[in-house]
Amino acid sequence: MPPTGTTITADDLPLDNSFAELPPAFYTRLMPTPMPAPYFVAASAKAAALVGLDPADLAHDDFVAVFTGNAVPPRAKPLSAVYSGHQFGHWAGQLGDGRAILLGQLATPEGPMELQLKGAGMTPYSRMGDGRAVLRSSIREFLCSEAMAALGVPTTRALMVTGSNQRIMRETVETAAVVTRMAPSFVRFGSFEHWHYRNKHEELRILADYVIRDFYPELAGAENPYLALLGEVTKRTARMIAHWQAVGFMHGVMNTDNMSILGVTLDYGPFGFMEAFDVDHICNHTDQGGRYSYANQVPVGHWNCYALANALLPLIGDTEAAQAALEVYVDAYGDKFDELLRAKLGLATAQADDRALFDHMFKLMQENHVDFTLFFRRLGGLRLDVADAEREAADAPLRDLFLDRPGFDAWAVLYRERLRQEGSVDANRSEAMNRVNPKYILRNYLAQVAIEKAQNGDFSEVARLLAVLERPFDEQPENESYAALPPDWAAHLEVSCSS
Ligand code: AMP
Ligand code: MG
Repeated sequence: MPPTGTTITADDLPLDNSFAELPPAFYTRLMPTPMPAPYFVAASAKAAALVGLDPADLAHDDFVAVFTGNAVPPRAKPLSAVYSGHQFGHWAGQLGDGRAILLGQLATPEGPMELQLKGAGMTPYSRMGDGRAVLRSSIREFLCSEAMAALGVPTTRALMVTGSNQRIMRETVETAAVVTRMAPSFVRFGSFEHWHYRNKHEELRILADYVIRDFYPELAGAENPYLALLGEVTKRTARMIAHWQAVGFMHGVMNTDNMSILGVTLDYGPFGFMEAFDVDHICNHTDQGGRYSYANQVPVGHWNCYALANALLPLIGDTEAAQAALEVYVDAYGDKFDELLRAKLGLATAQADDRALFDHMFKLMQENHVDFTLFFRRLGGLRLDVADAEREAADAPLRDLFLDRPGFDAWAVLYRERLRQEGSVDANRSEAMNRVNPKYILRNYLAQVAIEKAQNGDFSEVARLLAVLERPFDEQPENESYAALPPDWAAHLEVSCSS
């Protein structure tokens, strides 16, 4: 069926590919492997708009074919890029990209965006894998990418998901899907480690020069651009993780091959959003030691930057300077996290004992297993302008999240005092807090409901959930149930690395 009313057809997608201009050692040029009878699952209108595509077109057969890998636009130079990485703290050598194929770049006002097909077939780097991704994990990646973008967290984007009834084997038989991801670049820390561990310093330099030229041009004139690159990536990584902590996002597999050189959230697998607050929560069933627990994400982000520094050292040429560059992590993280928390608490000014107020709050949340998202959202409704006799009733929606009510009351006294000191006004503060504390997040059970329907051929819930998550800060009375606590059956949901 030909697309209607469009400026771009699938066949003349104006794709460039700057990565393909690197020497052949960095990738393998190859065609995606077609799948039988591909079908449209979902598309993100917002992601489409970023690259000048009409979302209505994406459901047409020709776009479905291209974004499944069944047809390749004439201008595309498909390739898969090689990389290595540290997995769960251990050097794992070459491991990717076994299933993602870069189609090329589309121009946007903010610069070129790469389009990548994840699950588009085997590559020379597939090792024991089948080059495929299952529908379940593709829907999770699609929804979470777009949800994170709407939450203001730096992230790769997801344009669409297509499926096929091609069966693939995981713990059970599932069906295959392809998610089309978008980012200015998919270069990872592991892309640099790959060359470092092979003692290929020339390739290391070529890759670093490429990244600086295309994505960090402001660093090109620095005295030591490679050192400047390390400093900037470290800073961006720290800030990205501050965003994760502030929204309760857990990545689940923070291996160095999943760390973006642009400091954006990359590779959504067994991720989770914090529900009942527990700093030690582990969202990935495969991560038995809790290396990537909520609390550990912060030091692990730093550890990963050390791995990057180690890989860049031959170019930087100065160990002490590299170490100093890594030190920016702590302040970059702390400053960003404090800034985000102040906004979450509706604090307009920064004061010396804010950290004590935050720590006290997190301790109570931990002891009372308080739902992370509900707590902050309801905190926005707390009033200063309320008579003593009515305070308890006014506080009830928030206060009732705590078993230890006196504990909550004691914290609330300090919080109110702090708000009064800066002359906080209820209506203004509440409005500002509702713009940073989401009402709607991608709870595992919501994804699960959408996935199970999709596995039965009904994709409507994926679209509906996406629409809810695209406006996470808005009151959506018709979607109130999407803000609810997980039902009992959700306690048994487990997500693992299997994807
Ligand atoms: P992950 O732990 O999901 O980030 O995967 C690590 C690497 O394994 C990635 O670079 C993938 O390209 C590769 N990989 C994962 N699953 C498959 C698969 N089914 N077939 C081929 N390669 C895979
Ligand atoms: Mg990965």
